[in-house]
Amino acid sequence: MPYVDEVLERVKQQNPDQPEFYQAVYEVLESLRPAIAKKESAYRKSALLERLTTPERAILFRVPWVDDRGQVQVNNGYRVQFNSAIGPYKGGLRFHPSVNLSVIKFLGFEQVFKNSLTGLPIGGGKGGADFDPKGKSDREVMAFCQSFMTELSKYIGPDTDVPAGDIGVGSREIGYLFGQYKRLSGRYEGVLTGKGLSYGGSLARTQATGYGLLYIVDEMLRCNGKSLEGKTVAVSGAGNVATYAIEKAWQLGAKPVTCSDSTGWIYDPDGIDVATLTVVKHVRRARLTEYAAARPGSVCHEGKGVWSIPCDVALPCATQNELLLEDAKVLAAGGCFAVAEGANMPTSLDATAYLQSHGVLFCPGKASNAGGVATSALEMSQNSQRLSWSFEEVDAKLSDIMVKIFHNLDEAANAYDMPGNYVAGANIAGFLKVADAMDAQGYV
Ligand code: NDP
Repeated sequence: MPYVDEVLERVKQQNPDQPEFYQAVYEVLESLRPAIAKKESAYRKSALLERLTTPERAILFRVPWVDDRGQVQVNNGYRVQFNSAIGPYKGGLRFHPSVNLSVIKFLGFEQVFKNSLTGLPIGGGKGGADFDPKGKSDREVMAFCQSFMTELSKYIGPDTDVPAGDIGVGSREIGYLFGQYKRLSGRYEGVLTGKGLSYGGSLARTQATGYGLLYIVDEMLRCNGKSLEGKTVAVSGAGNVATYAIEKAWQLGAKPVTCSDSTGWIYDPDGIDVATLTVVKHVRRARLTEYAAARPGSVCHEGKGVWSIPCDVALPCATQNELLLEDAKVLAAGGCFAVAEGANMPTSLDATAYLQSHGVLFCPGKASNAGGVATSALEMSQNSQRLSWSFEEVDAKLSDIMVKIFHNLDEAANAYDMPGNYVAGANIAGFLKVADAMDAQGYV
C-alpha cells in the first residue's frame, strides 16, 4: 500500500471521532503524493508522516469561572502544540461553542504548513475553549480569560509557544489574557500577539489577515491576466478577517457586496459600507439586521445563502465548511473566476475539487490567510527589539510576504507538473521546509 494511504488509514483509526482533523490531514496528504513519491522509502523509514500527523503535545484543561449570578461555570480548554521543527509554536486561540479537540487539531495541523509558507521561523499550534463570549458581560469574559490563562501560562512563553486571537478572541480577550500572564509570571514579554498598541502590539496586525488576503488575490489575478478593478466580490463573515478584506477590496478598486454572520447575511448592491459594518459588529456586537436597518438599499436574509449572489471573486471569511459543493456549482455557473479562503478550511473537499476542475482560480487558506500569522511574527520581532514600526512599514512587509507566498506556491505547483493547482503548491511548499527541518533534527 502506498505510504500516504497507510498513514491516512492510521490517522482515521486513531482519531475516529475527529472528522475535521481527518479532513485537514486528507486534503494535505492527498496533494503531497508527488512530493512523497520522490523520497517514499526514506520518509517511511523515518516515520515522517506519522510524526507530522501526530501533535508533539496536546494539553486539555478545565476552565472554571464564576458568572454574574455567582454560579460556577466550567469550560474545556485546549492547546495543541503541533510541530516546532522550524520555530516556537505559533497559532491562535478560538473561543466558540463548537470548539473541541478535532477542531483544534485540524487548525493546529493547518497552521504548521501556513507558518512554513510565510518564510518566517514559526512552528504550528492552536488552542481555545468551548466558551461563547457572546452575551457575556465584560466581567464574565475577564473572569473566563483569567482562569484560562492561569492554566495555559504553564505551557507558553516567548521562545516556546506564542498564541494569538482567532474566532471569539479579539483585542479585548487578548488584553485580559496578557494581563493575567504578566501577573502570574511577573514578566513583561511578547508571549501573545494581537496585543493593543499601548502594550506591545503591532500596527497593521488587526488588518493583516483581511488585507493579506486581498494582496495575494491581487497577485494571483495579475499572474493570470486578470485584475480586481471593477469586479464584484462576495464575502462571508463579518468579523476581523471579513471586515478588513472588505475594506481592502474597496481600496483595490473592487466592490464587495455581501457579508454574513452566524444568523444571516447581507446583500448590499451599493457595496458593503465598512463604517456601518464596524459599528454594528465590532462596537455594538449586534446582529446584521442592524446593518440593514442603517442601510435602506441593502437586504438582510436569515440563514445561509451568501454564495447565491453572482460575483467575480468569492472570499469565504467566516468559518470551516461554509462553502459546500452546491455553493461551488452556483458560484461557477454565475461566472465567479476566483475563490480565496480568508477563513481556515471554509471550502469542503468536493467543493474545492469542483471549483478547480471548472477553471476557477482557487487559493487555499493556509496561503491566503497567512497574513495574520506573518504579521504576528513581525510583532514578535518588534517586541524582541523593543521597537515599533510604522503602519506603512508593517503593511509593506505584509504585502511583500503575501506576494512571495503566492510565487512560492505557484513555483511548487509548476515544479510538480500541476500548474495552477495552488492547493497542491501550498501544501508541497509548506511541507518541504518542515520535512527538511524534521529530518535534520533526528527522530524527535
Ligand atoms: P471573528 O470572531 O472576528 O469573526 C468570525 C465571523 O464568522 C463572525 O461574523 C461570525 O458570526 C461568523 N461565524 C462564526 N462561526 C460561524 C458559523 N458556524 N456559521 C456562520 N458564521 C459563523 O473571527 P475572525 O474573523 O478572526 O476569523 C474568521 C476565520 O478566519 C476563522 O476561520 C479563523 O480561523 C480564520 N483566521 C483568522 C485570522 C485572524 O487573524 N483573525 C488569521 C487566519 C485565519 P457572529 O458574529 O454571529 O459570531
